[in-house]
Amino acid sequence: MKYSNETKELFTALSLFQSEITNASKTATNPFYNNKYTPLCDVIKHVSEGLAKNGLSVSQFPCSDEFGVGVITIITHKSGQYMESEPFTLPIDKKTSQGGASAITYARRYALAACLGISSEEDDDGNKASNAKKPEESELKQQNSSQRQTRSEQKQSNSTQQKQEKPLIICADCGQPITNYGEITIEQIAEGTLKKFTRPLCYECADKAKESE
Ligand SMILES: [Zn+2]
Repeated sequence: MKYSNETKELFTALSLFQSEITNASKTATNPFYNNKYTPLCDVIKHVSEGLAKNGLSVSQFPCSDEFGVGVITIITHKSGQYMESEPFTLPIDKKTSQGGASAITYARRYALAACLGISSEEDDDGNKASNAKKPEESELKQQNSSQRQTRSEQKQSNSTQQKQEKPLIICADCGQPITNYGEITIEQIAEGTLKKFTRPLCYECADKAKESE
């Protein structure tokens, strides 16, 4: 995260903005995970008035690194004070220009909502409830059984897992995919750490980052 030398006016405006903003209504449904989310254009519509009112503006620039493609998000205050996020990148599902574009759109929506402290995704609890499965148990079973599987079986189950699971989110510090921590979902960890540490972190790196604060 990079900041202007002075940040007081920026943070004051941001906290005013956050005290006024509500979560955007989730109007789209993700066909793969069957959860509702707010499309990027609706997130932008939802926040633009509140941002303008508080003298804030947000810019996002596409970027890429060894993990994939994504965005850098810059929040600017009319005083000239600003904060700039670390690159937030996601792996590309399909290595086509469309795959890249959809990863960037996803990253933009995700980073924008996280940087501004709003939610653009339905609580995962709702998702779990609608699937009517207990994630801890079934995930544990899956882990245990995959340890016993042969390599080719593992490959197969990995590829089906990837279809069912949410996109990988990479920890900004260690580069490993963020995994859920008990009941806490990957998204909740990513969103929480992005808000707190301005970059998505796995549980262990978040612990380390907490200590070094
Ligand atoms: Zn990590």
